Amino acid sequence: MARCYGMNLILNAATVTDVGLVRTNNEDCAHAGRRVFAVADGVGGLPAGELASAIVVRALAELDGDEPAQADPLALLRRAVESANRQIREASAANPAHEGMATTVTALLLAGDQIGLVHVGDSRCYRLRDGELAQLTRDDTFVQELVEHGLLTAAQARTHPRRSLVTQAVQGDDDLLPTLLLLTPCPADRFLLCSDGLSDAVTDEAIAGVLREVTDPQKCAERLVRLALVAGAADNVTVLVADVRCEPS
Ligand code: CA
Repeated sequence: MARCYGMNLILNAATVTDVGLVRTNNEDCAHAGRRVFAVADGVGGLPAGELASAIVVRALAELDGDEPAQADPLALLRRAVESANRQIREASAANPAHEGMATTVTALLLAGDQIGLVHVGDSRCYRLRDGELAQLTRDDTFVQELVEHGLLTAAQARTHPRRSLVTQAVQGDDDLLPTLLLLTPCPADRFLLCSDGLSDAVTDEAIAGVLREVTDPQKCAERLVRLALVAGAADNVTVLVADVRCEPS
């Protein structure tokens, strides 16, 4: 597999969010910067979900300096999410209206020729490589556990009434255990981060088709959001498309 020898790796990214057709407020939050790319989904049904998703995205966006990250990207990502977790605990304790607020987070940090990935909850990271779509994150959900125990098929999980029940979220708990992965990207890899407003409404096959067909990241993100809206978009929809590119150093 080709690598970016002697070249700078960059991610050319775009993000689109939409409140959807049913809800009145958008509790999703996203950031597409130079090195940090994040999607967070304030957990529905709880107060101040939009504040929780903004807190975790802001903590991650602080890593988005002009200089390449020198430290271990996974340590930086873990520290940022732990900091957001503390801020959410403090905000919940300080204001009864914020009590119980929670968010998912899925984020990438570009560091040299590697990419760190952090994940909590049911927002997803996919990678399109050579036309093949792979889901890189495992949903922290009740239905995912049932699928892994052979009690549900993946198709049944998609329509299960409790499919939104997350087993882990950034909500101020001491036992938060983010999933951390170090990725080695290849030129022409395309990453997709999304909230469950996309992955619940649109099949992986349809997502893959759009990622293959629409070259421009902004237009691609817009097309994916439109597919979710056409499917009814009962939830907020957030999509971030990031293309790996090599640039002369
Ligand atoms: Ca959602």
